Amino acid sequence: MKKTDSFDVVVIGGGVAGAVAALAAREAGKSAACIAQAPGATALSSGAVDPLPETSPPGPLSHAERGDAPDTVPLSPRGGAVLSRVEGGTGDRGFLKDALSFAREAFLSLGLTGGAGAGGALVLPTVLGTWKKALLALSTQAPADLLSLEGRRLVVARFADVEAAGWRPGRELARQAADCFGVEIAAAQEIEIEFQALSRRMGAFETAAAIDADPSLAAMIGERIGRKVGNGAPSLVLVDPVLGIRDYARALREVEAAAGVSCAEMLPTVPSVPGRRWQNAIEAALANAGVRAIKARALGFKAAGHKVTSIGVSDGVTVNGTAFVLATGRFVGGGIRREAGFDEPLFDLPVVCAGTPNPDVPMGELVGRRISDRHTAFSAGVRVDDAMRPIGREGGPVFENLWAAGAVVGDRTVADGPSGMGNAILSGYLAGRAAAGLQ
Ligand SMILES: Cc1cc2nc3c(=O)[nH]c(=O)nc-3n(C[C@H](O)[C@H](O)[C@H](O)COP(=O)(O)OP(=O)(O)OC[C@H]3O[C@@H](n4cnc5c(N)ncnc54)[C@H](O)[C@@H]3O)c2cc1C
Repeated sequence: MKKTDSFDVVVIGGGVAGAVAALAAREAGKSAACIAQAPGATALSSGAVDPLPETSPPGPLSHAERGDAPDTVPLSPRGGAVLSRVEGGTGDRGFLKDALSFAREAFLSLGLTGGAGAGGALVLPTVLGTWKKALLALSTQAPADLLSLEGRRLVVARFADVEAAGWRPGRELARQAADCFGVEIAAAQEIEIEFQALSRRMGAFETAAAIDADPSLAAMIGERIGRKVGNGAPSLVLVDPVLGIRDYARALREVEAAAGVSCAEMLPTVPSVPGRRWQNAIEAALANAGVRAIKARALGFKAAGHKVTSIGVSDGVTVNGTAFVLATGRFVGGGIRREAGFDEPLFDLPVVCAGTPNPDVPMGELVGRRISDRHTAFSAGVRVDDAMRPIGREGGPVFENLWAAGAVVGDRTVADGPSGMGNAILSGYLAGRAAAGLQ
């Protein structure tokens, strides 16, 4: 790369928010660059896209979620800037539907399924024994949608040789399906599959790489599943989400063919092989669309008046732009730091947390003790106006040509009501279009 290069739209951040923003700018005919120092939270995700909280209320499935896509998106007043834009757009259900279709198309290799209605959701099993709502999921995850399992027999196949976090959840999945979602699963049996072909216990990534390298392993897993489930085959066998990083859809098909039964992958905790699949799909999509990938750390910026003019990156390169999108993530990505207080290191934007400007309280008071507790710290981020432009200390947009997207945008909590990649896709789409001069 030249010491100085210029683009219509410069995105800082290579997670799902930054990728969607850059791709939306390319679709609008603009040249685009994406500066990213490393994978962020997107690469740790389960692979399934959390719904925006206001589009999917907690508790038992609503009628709409059971299959009838609603005509309108239910919105609550605390939705903030992003959600106030859900109802606009060209699609019949607004920008959210547009953004989800855009993501499905952009990351075709993931075979993303779901998101038919803005309030519609898949309900998918995790390796922790819980069910999680998702707007979109990988092709290998979506067939485990709870709504298709009512009255059916479910088997959870545990891979005994694979080291994985969490516990295998047969009975707990059945209990939760009934208690939380009102769906009765006829039986939830657990079986243990030993690879044996592996000489020792391996981690999730090692196993996935071994399956990519030796496709016969998938058929072997399938044969063992087939033998264990025997007669009276179940409707679905849930397997560990380790069936390859590259060719996982093919591997699942081979497992199914050899087992003679339908199979699906559960959602993982970290380490997450499906998260790595997302990151790979993002990098491929950016390359295919002609987005210039700049693997470097953005260290600072230059501005003239109320406009950003360039970003300086670690190897002495300057990236000039007409418009900029900040999509640097939160704590994992590095877009928000916690040292003496919260700060946004690149533009020194003010950070809010649970609606309060940089609250002066110990971090311990901002995170809960259990995973299900309220974790206020996860709402830390920059505040944006209705156009997705970061707001400064004086209350107005700091720069005319800077937009923000994804987890760096604060004022909503991930742990409180899941809003991870769903939010990143919607806000990335809106910010990328705005940076390209579209509404
Ligand atoms: C463990 C974990 C599990 C999760 N599971 C799920 C899930 O299952 N489903 C879901 O929907 N959500 C999940 N989330 C939330 C979700 O992953 C995030 O909300 C979403 O991925 C954020 O995307 P992003 O693009 O905003 O940020 P990130 O994916 O974090 O990307 C930020 C990018 O910015 C780059 N960056 C930052 N600073 C700089 C700089 N100065 N210079 C250059 N590059 C920079 C980083 O290197 C990275 O590329 C999870 C989060 C975590 C932490």
